[in-house]
Amino acid sequence: MLRNGGGLGKFYADPATGARRFEDQMGAVLSFDDGVALRKFGIVSTNRVLASLPKNVLKALQPSMKRIVLDQEAYLFQPDDDPEFIYFPETAAVSEFQILEDGRMVEVAIIGREGAIGLSKLFCSTPIPNCVQVTQGGRVIRLCLTEARRLIRQKPETAFHFYPYVDTYIRQISQKTICNLYHSVKARFCTWLLMVRDRCDGPVLHLTHEQIARTLGVYRPRITCIARELKRRNIIDYSRGGISICDRSGIENAACHCYAELAQYLAHTRPGQSRLVAH
Ligand SMILES: [Zn+2]
Repeated sequence: MLRNGGGLGKFYADPATGARRFEDQMGAVLSFDDGVALRKFGIVSTNRVLASLPKNVLKALQPSMKRIVLDQEAYLFQPDDDPEFIYFPETAAVSEFQILEDGRMVEVAIIGREGAIGLSKLFCSTPIPNCVQVTQGGRVIRLCLTEARRLIRQKPETAFHFYPYVDTYIRQISQKTICNLYHSVKARFCTWLLMVRDRCDGPVLHLTHEQIARTLGVYRPRITCIARELKRRNIIDYSRGGISICDRSGIENAACHCYAELAQYLAHTRPGQSRLVAH
């Protein structure tokens, strides 16, 4: 066993490929092929908000961090929850929804490795306004909110390091407001699929037509009809519970201009020198 930044884990060789892997104490298996590499005092994260933080801030937060795996369609928060943690996705993608009076849900933001979920709770104590659900299961770093707030009380300048992502988050919500109001369901479908794809690893996205319909706030038959057309044109392929993009430029052409705007914000959240200690 290896003591790793305060947590325990072990190295082993993958029996199928021989690749060197690390299993943390939560049982999450980390492959060094997917951007996660062990350093002398910890593990580098692919989350761009964490990777942009100064070393002293990461070091102070490290004991309050834990890498966990989120299941597909699990709920992180419900409206009016008082959260205990902030989540920094690495391979997971998470959606924030507003719930309408009739029970329908509309996605207002999607967050992956470029961002964080629940970050606003660092600065205010009001309850969570949205329903937050995992769109694509995967790894996240979970940070104890109480300890993060304590650090900001002790060193208020720490908060400034999170502001660039807060700006990106507000820009995404603004763009999605326009998208939800004015753009066609087909264009929104393509934009959203690209946004999920950009945040996740692997060629196949584990999505159902029902899930996409719920996310876009439309009825399932509309999504099935659009998916059939895109498949017929060899732009996407799908089977039960899985969708893959076959023609990247084809789907970009079918998407609304929101995708280019939102991808630009994603590109702006570049990591600094990656360094994260988590266990
Ligand atoms: Zn749009």
